[in-house]
Amino acid sequence: MDNPPLAVEMRGIVKRFPGVLANDQVDLRVAPGEVHALLGENGAGKSTLMNILAGLYRPDAGEIRLNGQRVEFRSPKDAIAAGIGMVHQHFMLVESQTVAENVILGLDEPRFVLDMGKVADQIATMAEGYGMAVDPHARIWQLSVGEQQRVEILKALYIGANILVLDEPTAVLTPQEAEQLYATVARLAGEGKSIIFISHKLSEVSSAAHKVTVLRGGRVVGT
Ligand code: ADP
Ligand code: MG
Repeated sequence: MDNPPLAVEMRGIVKRFPGVLANDQVDLRVAPGEVHALLGENGAGKSTLMNILAGLYRPDAGEIRLNGQRVEFRSPKDAIAAGIGMVHQHFMLVESQTVAENVILGLDEPRFVLDMGKVADQIATMAEGYGMAVDPHARIWQLSVGEQQRVEILKALYIGANILVLDEPTAVLTPQEAEQLYATVARLAGEGKSIIFISHKLSEVSSAAHKVTVLRGGRVVGT
């Protein structure tokens, strides 16, 4: 589950939906250890681009390279196996299950081969190390939205993500929770993980990100 640090390169990405050119020849490069903000107004094509990186959509044109090697993702499973984890705007957690159960949903091992006590301990240690305190035994419906976001991030990290995509993560957070998230992101980057952070607020990305790519109408207007 340990993936090496990854340099991501998306080149010439094109994605059309009926009547919309959502991504128009988009180039994006993210180095290991970089916090890269993807900035743009609603409808600019940010989520589409990241859904392509996460294997949810196939691009109509363009390519993705990881450490220089061309990759093709047929499904999110392929992207996860390559070390890419995405936390979507709308969480994909099972409300009635515990934090630990949700974290292992992404693994290939069936539940009965795992020692759930050990998994819970690993999650607690990981959560503490990254400043994302959460009780592995709590059920999702008992958690605040900010805590649920932590579970999504922990899940991606537990599966071995070395590129973490966060789609408008601060939209659901209080200012204080957002500060905690920035600290977590900085710590992850310090370990060589890359973070792609979607936002539509320049003020927020200018403090948290090393680099910013701005999308408008599906095109990159600057990095
Ligand atoms: P952003 O995340 O920057 O707000 P999106 O990538 O979600 O933008 O959307 C870019 C454009 O593509 C928008 O015009 C949106 O309506 C359209 N779009 C996104 N996803 C779909 C989809 N699954 N089907 C059709 N149109 C879509
Ligand atoms: Mg979006």
